[in-house]
Amino acid sequence: MTKYLNPHTHSDAHPDSYYVATRRYADSYPTLEGEVIVDVCVVGGGLSGINTAIELAERGDRVAVVEARMIGWGASGRNGGQLIRGIGHGLEQFRKWIGQEGIDAISQMGFEAVDIAKQRIEKFSIDCDLKMGYCDLATKDRHYRDFKEDYEWLKSTKYPHHIELLSADRMHEVVGTDAYVGGLVDMGSGHVHPLNLITGEARAAASLGVQIFENSLVTRIEESPSIVVHTAKGRVRAEKLVICGNAYVAGLHRVLETKVLPAGSYIIATEPLTEEQWRRTLPQDMAVCDQNVALDYYRLSADKRLLFGGRCNYSGRDPKSIEGVMKPDLVKLFPYLKDVKIEYQWGGMIGIGANRLPQIGRLTPNIYYAQAYAGHGLNATHMAAKLIAEAMHKESNRIDVFEKVRHMTFPGGAKFRSPLLAMGMLYYRFMDLF
Ligand SMILES: Cc1cc2nc3c(=O)[nH]c(=O)nc-3n(C[C@H](O)[C@H](O)[C@H](O)COP(=O)(O)OP(=O)(O)OC[C@H]3O[C@@H](n4cnc5c(N)ncnc54)[C@H](O)[C@@H]3O)c2cc1C
Repeated sequence: MTKYLNPHTHSDAHPDSYYVATRRYADSYPTLEGEVIVDVCVVGGGLSGINTAIELAERGDRVAVVEARMIGWGASGRNGGQLIRGIGHGLEQFRKWIGQEGIDAISQMGFEAVDIAKQRIEKFSIDCDLKMGYCDLATKDRHYRDFKEDYEWLKSTKYPHHIELLSADRMHEVVGTDAYVGGLVDMGSGHVHPLNLITGEARAAASLGVQIFENSLVTRIEESPSIVVHTAKGRVRAEKLVICGNAYVAGLHRVLETKVLPAGSYIIATEPLTEEQWRRTLPQDMAVCDQNVALDYYRLSADKRLLFGGRCNYSGRDPKSIEGVMKPDLVKLFPYLKDVKIEYQWGGMIGIGANRLPQIGRLTPNIYYAQAYAGHGLNATHMAAKLIAEAMHKESNRIDVFEKVRHMTFPGGAKFRSPLLAMGMLYYRFMDLF
């Protein structure tokens, strides 16, 4: 199908990741052939698409999910696995469109989103190593000042989970390096095995009657007089359509693709650490993440490997050796791990919008979309799915708050969009240094 630069990052197969090596659900689904008629067709078999299908099937709709490669092939099956509260970054910037009420609504949804994911895991007994516990890491005093504000704000919302500010001298309680000047612990956020989550959710969707099709690239969408979604061998006729292609949406929809830019992010997985090593590195088995634009995010797997992610790449060119660029970052933080072997390395595409608020809404009364979670989509995809289902079933108009926010169209066409983003992000990386 498509040619990609680095096979660890992109081929039409799943990457050779730690997640694939430890997957628990090996279900496969047929290719779409002939005509299928449903109430709702969902394009994209990631967390957005599959959770939308679950929400709709639970409300009695006949649903088909059409995925170009395999369920979880995109960001959903290869991400850092950090399930963190919150939606969007810097909601204050949207005040002119959504007011205080809108800011409060999205803030609350940032909590609800994690609950939806946790409840789904519990309801369908999804075996995905869910572990609660997360710490924001400050590399600069200004980050720590922000954490203090976040802490006070969380207290004021009566956030029901344990939160705690950690000053520099207490950072070794959560992470075995002197690199950080403070932290904010949140026991309401945590981490999961993302491929087992998405494939477990796909199994749940199928158990609710959702028809799932893999290896079925959508090549054309007829929007009127009725919706018909075409693939090479078949088509789906539907009353309504939900487009969930995210960073891979290019070629699927001419408007949506101009609002989201794909940025590469990369992960290395060490061999299992010894007990002494992992207890020194992440003694409380929390997921952690720093606050830089080019951020480091890492956690332990269930078998105590260090899964170390970061190195966002906006140029559209993957590093030739992911280990080569990532391991020095890991060793800089944890010099005592310099001899551990890297057993897996892979990357994937994060979908980024200009203002980093997820784009959730309607293109027409019958065509919905969800995309652009900017590297923070494990929770938000679950919220987007619920908002779409509530809107379709006229249960709520909570989706409106997202529709009120304007999203910039990236100029330059497919060829120049990534270089433009690369230039913008270089500026932010430069700012990270100060
Ligand atoms: C390396 C990496 C690390 C990340 N870490 C974290 C993290 O720790 N925490 C967090 O919250 N978020 C993280 N994210 C972001 C998170 O993974 C995403 O926001 C989320 O998975 C988006 O889900 P999605 O379903 O919208 O998109 P995707 O999972 O990318 O799914 C989109 C799907 O649409 C399909 N598709 C596209 N076009 C077509 C077409 N024409 N026909 C049929 N199918 C099509 C694609 O094949 C793909 O499977 C990370 C992302 C990456 C890449």
